[in-house]
Amino acid sequence: MSDLVHPLPYASWETRGWWEGCGRGELVLQRCTTCRRIQHKPRALCAKCLTDTVEHFVASGRGTIHTFTVTHQNFMAPFNEHLPYVLAYVELAEGPRVLTNVVGIDPADVRIGQQVVADYASSPRDDGEVFAVPRFRPA
Ligand SMILES: [Zn+2]
Repeated sequence: MSDLVHPLPYASWETRGWWEGCGRGELVLQRCTTCRRIQHKPRALCAKCLTDTVEHFVASGRGTIHTFTVTHQNFMAPFNEHLPYVLAYVELAEGPRVLTNVVGIDPADVRIGQQVVADYASSPRDDGEVFAVPRFRPA
């Protein structure tokens, strides 16, 4: 079992809060101040009421594995160096689901409903920004 480290993301103006938060070791979600919906992925508008009254907040970083698959075959680097790995939808304690990896556990031991906590894979960048990719470990 090895730790899968992703290529670093590109941050658009809509997703910058998410990626910067991950760089600080925080999951930053959006909440609509009009209808109170919590959403992910980051957007300029609330996906429910379509207002632009969204604010960012730091989520708990806790979640539950909603579903997952174990990938045994992938020819693309760097993923081919970390087989098998777990790709999962984690339902955050705040409600939204994120597509992510589960690390720090033998893939054969991963279970739906398992409690997990966010962890962050980061690599140095040459532009001075700090981004990271969130993944989850058993709680
Ligand atoms: Zn709304």
